[in-house]
Amino acid sequence: MAILSYLSFRNIQNENYLIQKNFDENRVSLQKDLENALEKEQSKIFQETKAASLFLYELPKSLLEFGNAASFKDVKGIEAIYLYNNGNLVYPDISSKLLSHADHFSDAKPTLAESALYQSEQDESKWQELEFSRELLARNPLLSTNDLVQNVLGLIRIAYKKKDYNEALRLLKILESKPKLQGYLHADLTRPINLLHFDILVKMKKHQEAEDYCLFVLNQFLQEKSIEDIPSTRFFFETAFTQILSFENLKQEKREAFWNLRGNFNRQLAYTEILMKNQELFQRTLYSESQSKTGILFKSEGDVTLFRMSYPMLPGNQVVIAKVDESAYRDRILDKLKNIAQRWNNVPFSITDAKDSLLLGSVPDSATILNQTSLGVAPSWQLTLYEKDIGEIQKESRHRMFLMYGLLFFSLITVIFGSFFMLRFFIQEHKLLAMKANFLSSVSHELKTPLTSIKMFAEMMARGRVMKVEKVQEYSGLINKEASRLENLIGAILNYTRMEHGTGAFKWEKLDFSICVKKVFEAVEDIGVEKGLSFKTQIAPNVYVMGDYTALYSLAQNLIENAIKYTNAPGDIEIKVYNEDDRAVFSVIDTGVGIPSSEQKNIFNDFYRVGDEMTRSTKGSGLGLAIVKRVAETHKATISLVSKPGKGSNFTVRFRKVD
Ligand code: ADP
Repeated sequence: MAILSYLSFRNIQNENYLIQKNFDENRVSLQKDLENALEKEQSKIFQETKAASLFLYELPKSLLEFGNAASFKDVKGIEAIYLYNNGNLVYPDISSKLLSHADHFSDAKPTLAESALYQSEQDESKWQELEFSRELLARNPLLSTNDLVQNVLGLIRIAYKKKDYNEALRLLKILESKPKLQGYLHADLTRPINLLHFDILVKMKKHQEAEDYCLFVLNQFLQEKSIEDIPSTRFFFETAFTQILSFENLKQEKREAFWNLRGNFNRQLAYTEILMKNQELFQRTLYSESQSKTGILFKSEGDVTLFRMSYPMLPGNQVVIAKVDESAYRDRILDKLKNIAQRWNNVPFSITDAKDSLLLGSVPDSATILNQTSLGVAPSWQLTLYEKDIGEIQKESRHRMFLMYGLLFFSLITVIFGSFFMLRFFIQEHKLLAMKANFLSSVSHELKTPLTSIKMFAEMMARGRVMKVEKVQEYSGLINKEASRLENLIGAILNYTRMEHGTGAFKWEKLDFSICVKKVFEAVEDIGVEKGLSFKTQIAPNVYVMGDYTALYSLAQNLIENAIKYTNAPGDIEIKVYNEDDRAVFSVIDTGVGIPSSEQKNIFNDFYRVGDEMTRSTKGSGLGLAIVKRVAETHKATISLVSKPGKGSNFTVRFRKVD
């Protein structure tokens, strides 16, 4: 016990050391794995961005070749991509219009009178009067171009409201085709007019014309020198494309073409809008002096994070600037890191971003910080590793110890039980072998004894030594007796082997068990009477069972013969057969030597004989009760034995009764 305690104490110390060591190793692995995973995912994003930028550049240069445009797959974590060549933006190509946009912005505002006229447009009853005055005004040569445009627009609006679409279209066409007026159709006016025109065509169900008109506006837009108002341009094209895509009679290939066109154009506009908002940051990023070996350079300002990709990631004079979609970028990388962290779940760590909010892991309440490193190029995340709680180490070591001892204990139990069962099996096997050997020797002895007598008497008579008739009669009687003993013995052996082979050899039938018992009794009664025993029988008629006659006969024979064999004179033997509820009962009760309770279980085993003087002096094979047991089993019958040494035995067999 002391040795065991000492050993387990040593073991716990060892375990603590091992766990600490293991933890240290895990911590190093975790850090390495996280760094690798982050780097890998980032370079994947860079590669995808590079591929996407080249793909975008390869898109048909003119948007109007829209039929060929393949659909573009966004890069997760990247919001916008810009491709430069020799310092010039080549994608999105409409962005080149941005440079001069500020100069052309119109600041024309409607006059007070115009505003009043616009107000009264809301009242339907005033339309006629309004039409009249607007027409007059539109013809006034003194009016400024701006006022002229406003008046024509007012007339278009009224015609539209009156659902006089033809008149509205006529006026729109005048307005849009007059080059002099066109200069005023910018800023907040151009797109609303385009939209009105498009809408009227749709309302008139002139779908083909509406499509053509949309492409015409697009063409015009591409030829313009500058972009005036991206939101309203976007709004026009988004509305027009969506309408066109909803046309029922639009051909499938055209639908695809418009779908792609919408995607490409919207992307260009969206990218351009971003560029417009952050022009300064883009310029600084593009011309930044600092170089990195990898070709990647991050620049952030406020919420906007850009990265520049150049040589050696890209060839020669090419530069790509990408705007990071911060939350998507973070989610994408965190997803990868989460998988890694799960593998080392017993190492306490945390990953925090630049604003110090927790992204992954957890910050323990009171743990020593072991190591703090920044992760990857950007985003600037911080990895913090903590000392493992000593209590936790102990807990883990205890856990491992329990597991180990549990296992040890379990193996020990298994070995003990295994050995026990093996031993029992061997002993049984050994016993059986001994019994078989014993059986063989006793059987051969049993066979030999009567044979010797038979041989002896026969020889005597053959030699003519026996002259007297009485003697001859006596000897032949003895020969007969020995022969029948031999016959019985062989019968028992045959019976036994028959039982061993099971029910296959049985002939099942419904039979009256009382008749069977009576037959047995008649055959053996004399032997008992000769021995000085008295019999009492109580055999009720019609006790039906399902069974094999020969098997049942030998069951009854063995039990009754045993009662005779193991009862000394003067003694009583009672034989009973009767029906009891659903059972057919057969009992043999003697006042014989009895069986010690320790032997009662064994006597039903093959070849088993109780080893006292009485048994030894009684002839037998040890097979009788084995046969009884087998017959009972095959007939689904139960055997009960009540016996007391010196008092007698009661063997009772209960069969299933059949009617
Ligand atoms: P055998 O009688 O040939 O020895 P059995 O299998 O019939 O073999 O019986 C096994 C043993 O059970 C006998 O050796 C005997 O000791 C004991 N036995 C059987 N029947 C009785 C009985 N009625 N009274 C006392 N002992 C009995």
